[in-house]
Amino acid sequence: GAPAPEATPAPTQDHLAHNYHPLPVVLASGEGAWVQDTDGREYLDLLSGYSALNFGHRHPHLVAAAHAQLDRLTLTSRAFDHDLLAPFATRLALLLEPLLAAPDGVLVLPMNTGAEAVETAVKTARKWGYEVKGVPEGQASIVVAADNFHGRTTTIVSFSSDDDARRSFGPFAPGFRVVPYGDAEALAAAVDATTVAVLIEPVQGEAGVIVPPEGYLAAVRAVCDEHDVLFIADEIQSGLGRTGATLACERAGVKPDLVTLGKALGGGVVPVSAVVGRRDVLAVLTPGTHGSTFGGNPLSCAVALAVVDLLETGEHQARARELGEHLEERLAAMVEEGLLVRYRVAGLWAGVDVDPSRGTGREVSERLLQRRVLVKDTHGQTVRIAPPLVISLEDLDWALDQLADALR
Ligand code: PLP
Repeated sequence: GAPAPEATPAPTQDHLAHNYHPLPVVLASGEGAWVQDTDGREYLDLLSGYSALNFGHRHPHLVAAAHAQLDRLTLTSRAFDHDLLAPFATRLALLLEPLLAAPDGVLVLPMNTGAEAVETAVKTARKWGYEVKGVPEGQASIVVAADNFHGRTTTIVSFSSDDDARRSFGPFAPGFRVVPYGDAEALAAAVDATTVAVLIEPVQGEAGVIVPPEGYLAAVRAVCDEHDVLFIADEIQSGLGRTGATLACERAGVKPDLVTLGKALGGGVVPVSAVVGRRDVLAVLTPGTHGSTFGGNPLSCAVALAVVDLLETGEHQARARELGEHLEERLAAMVEEGLLVRYRVAGLWAGVDVDPSRGTGREVSERLLQRRVLVKDTHGQTVRIAPPLVISLEDLDWALDQLADALR
């Protein structure tokens, strides 16, 4: 049987692989924008699980949906249908159809993690390229942007430009061309008759919330149209409300052919991802060519349907726009005061570059932890700010006061 409690050694980190370097805090509970550590200290969460927690911790509507489904059915595998699979696909398709370049409607392919959705999009684009576009077998190319972050699988790190993400993980998958982000001419020059897709983040999240120049996404769309190339927008971090719209592409008035979603699609409750896009493109996948044991499982569908409910109201998108304007004003004042070198903002999402004389991004994150605000640095001098979209204006202001004080 199970060992007596006193025989169980006290838990340490000794048995945990070291693939992360977390801030020194151990969290035990959370609600809305706030979390508590094991000693009951409260922290305001300005990371939101890398935007998986756009609706906050334990949003009541999402938790209720999960509870109800736990009492009914949790897994069937795709060997059998379940009663939430078609509703999930239908509701997500209807939400996104107006935002995609899909005159014949869209299909939804459910997976679990972001990287899996990106892998699915890559496979779909290649198969479409060979079977529909007529690219010679084995020669498909996909154009991607430098400083991208699309996940951690072996194919995806093959086209990363981050040495830490790649080193010692080869041999790498061929078939990707990396061009500078934000440069539509360089992108156009990399496209040829073998090109099946352009895969980019409409705002680069992990790179430090990099917002491309005005007109870039429209220019990418035009290049794709001209050369019969799929525009795949990775909206895993930028999508589902974060930038003040359901999709970041929507803000730029641009409709991609395929979109990858993840993170907030599972409401921070369960891992849920999906590829959504052109019916004729996703239709190249037939039984036996792709799948996932957990993709589209009943619990995931129940939570994701509840996420669609929240997105359909538009309230969270509006909140991200309104609070985002306030965030931008506050950050501008911090630049004025010499606390920040610069910032980039897209809705309620910012990357701020800290003046090196005031510390590294990591040091600022540690100082903010002491002040009960959780943020995460990226690439040395950058701190990203991505509060849950349900945060109050007062709490946001308080957190930004802490940021300013931590920098002074
Ligand atoms: N794509 C983007 C744009 C991301 O930001 C991330 C994660 O940060 C991923 C893909 C990978 O998602 P996951 O960690 O769920 O595999």
